[in-house]
Amino acid sequence: LGQLFIVPTPIGNLGDITQRAINTLQQVDLIAAEDTRHTGKLLQQFAIKTPMFSLHDHNEQEKSAILIEKLQSGVSIALVSDAGTPLINDPGYHFVKLCHENGIKVIPLPGACAAITALSAAGIASDRFCYEGFLPAKSKARISILESLQEESRTLIFYESPHRIKETLLDMKAVFGDERRVVIARELTKIWETIYGSPLGQLVEWIVADENRQRGEFVVLVEGFKAPASDDMDFLNQKVLATLKLLMKELP
Ligand code: SAM
Repeated sequence: LGQLFIVPTPIGNLGDITQRAINTLQQVDLIAAEDTRHTGKLLQQFAIKTPMFSLHDHNEQEKSAILIEKLQSGVSIALVSDAGTPLINDPGYHFVKLCHENGIKVIPLPGACAAITALSAAGIASDRFCYEGFLPAKSKARISILESLQEESRTLIFYESPHRIKETLLDMKAVFGDERRVVIARELTKIWETIYGSPLGQLVEWIVADENRQRGEFVVLVEGFKAPASDDMDFLNQKVLATLKLLMKELP
């Protein structure tokens, strides 16, 4: 039986590929890649000539079956995505699940992942965290997810694109309030790497003040909910008012 290797690739800085990743990409028979053109450039950098096979979100189910047959006939495969760790907001879940169902050994290589890289430098509690990936693109759906996370005490980690970073931070401010601390980690490992944290009210002002701050790839880390001390009258009054408002809506 062949084996499947899960191989992380850099999230910006090419120097972040590991020696083991290079060796594995060289030694396997086939590389299953999210985008063969994108991965082709990476392979070129490291003079790796292993053949590629396309496995992306839209063909994963059908292509996985073909790859399983190859593994069963003894072919060894490396799975890569465009950047970072496969399966972390990238294709591969169905394929890996199918490998387990078919008794194929899956060997993970450690490597770059934007969420963990950001968390390690954010200065926000890192002992317990929830990875939430991308929020929905539409504000209504986004707010409803944020509301469901309002009292989550663990650190929240989101991915966000430059097109929506401003709107997402505005929605977070509306749901979590001005005082909740948020850190944004932008363009990690690249030239314009920026890690900036502040209470949400200020963070929104900071990002709106300069459009350059909204460019690039983002990880957004939100400090977990801290239950206020029971003698915090302001907070209690706000809660009572919010409940009253809800009740008033229901009254004829
Ligand atoms: N598999 C990847 C990983 O392990 O992090 C994530 C892939 S996901 C499709 C792409 C998103 O990851 C981007 O929109 C951004 O939110 C985040 N991301 C990737 N590279 C990043 C970087 N260099 N700096 C900040 N965020 C990054």
